[in-house]
Amino acid sequence: MTRRVHNFCAGPCTLPLQVLEEVQQEFIDFHGAGMSLIEMSHRSKEYDAVHTEAMQLAGEVFEAPQDFEVLFIQGGATLQFAMVPMNLLEAGQPAGYVNSGAWAKGAIRDAGFYGDIYTAWDGADADYMRMPASREIEIRDNTRYLHVTSNETIGGIRITEWPDVGVPLVADMSSEYMARSIPWDKFDLVYGGIQKNLGPAGMAVVFVRKSALAHSNRALANYLRYDVHADKQSLFNTPPMFAIYLLGKMLRWMRDKGGLAAVEQEAAGKAAMLYEVIDTSGGFYNCPVAEANRSHMNVVFRLPSEDLEARFLSEAAGHDLVNLKGHRSVGGCRASIYNAMPSESVATLADFMRRFASDHG
Ligand code: PMP
Repeated sequence: MTRRVHNFCAGPCTLPLQVLEEVQQEFIDFHGAGMSLIEMSHRSKEYDAVHTEAMQLAGEVFEAPQDFEVLFIQGGATLQFAMVPMNLLEAGQPAGYVNSGAWAKGAIRDAGFYGDIYTAWDGADADYMRMPASREIEIRDNTRYLHVTSNETIGGIRITEWPDVGVPLVADMSSEYMARSIPWDKFDLVYGGIQKNLGPAGMAVVFVRKSALAHSNRALANYLRYDVHADKQSLFNTPPMFAIYLLGKMLRWMRDKGGLAAVEQEAAGKAAMLYEVIDTSGGFYNCPVAEANRSHMNVVFRLPSEDLEARFLSEAAGHDLVNLKGHRSVGGCRASIYNAMPSESVATLADFMRRFASDHG
């Protein structure tokens, strides 16, 4: 019997068993070609069908309007920290960034090499435990876009109300990609790494408004140009075929579950199970995040002492509840419950947490 644990890793993370089994089944002889997908040409008819379907499904399942291009780009979300300003900023145009925590800081740092970047709101005073209201965000004249990190994977905070600030938004949605609907009118660009809700690591899906491409920077290495990826339907060079193939399978899996609305509702329900345990534990568990901004994907919590946290993690692992340690920069515990995490696994964790609290509280 294959062993499968309850894997609460923050990314790469658990994927649906059904998808893994399908991949396993068709791996060695892909659709009768006598070779696997990763051994064939990216110009073959078999791969072409995989690629085209993944692109179509991305538009469909994300409910992206026709005036957005979908791009598959290697380098994860991290490369987008640089590609966004490189492509979108023209001379004399600043861009505002919401500094909401560790990942926003990464985006701000890298963007600073390529444009006039300013911090439009800084969460430092709140210890990065909340997101800003629109009125707190300061937008300077001529701002090209406001960059937000919709869900801080390490801090466990999410934007509840998208900012309404009169300039187009750009969002890093890596850790809640395909887990919430996107009000496309507000955005010029949305990006995310796919290794949480959508497949393996190493690639980003980028949605960019076609009108924004009309002015994008051409004085860049080809791979760094959004317009080149758009013109070539993300086949400018050899694409990460296996990642795109799995992305297609994940998108189909989510479409069959009922699409975005169903997934979003399920995510809220799974998160509520854990926050309820935390809130009714009489202070044994503590979630430091402002209630309105609690993440639906990364539930962070502390126990009364580091000793108890260590014990919690080791006893949890004994019950096959693994990867619950908080990020090394902040400590504590974190349960990442992305789309492929079954409700039953979240319920198993919730039960374990209740038992642990009553044994040690
Ligand atoms: N942004 C966020 C919100 C993330 O969680 C991560 C990865 N955990 C990244 C960016 C970086 O993604 P990648 O490793 O794919 O470059």
